[in-house]
Amino acid sequence: MKIIHSVEKCIGCGLCASICPDFWEMEDNDNKAHLKGQKSETEEEKEIIEESCAKEAAESCPVQAIEIL
Ligand code: SF4
Repeated sequence: MKIIHSVEKCIGCGLCASICPDFWEMEDNDNKAHLKGQKSETEEEKEIIEESCAKEAAESCPVQAIEIL
């Protein structure tokens, strides 16, 4: 499965990075969350083996910027 993270939709609330810091981090330059190590301005993807906290992060995002497929 994979995480699809829309940087364009993100409003930088910080919830995903707080709930699931293994996969997300906040970026000071644009005040948005990014999948760790990624710097896209539009959309980011990461293959994952287990949902772990990613599902909770996706459900908690107030602007539905995160999908788990
Ligand atoms: S929870 Fe959603 S809006 Fe908040 S930082 Fe994460 S992706 Fe952005």
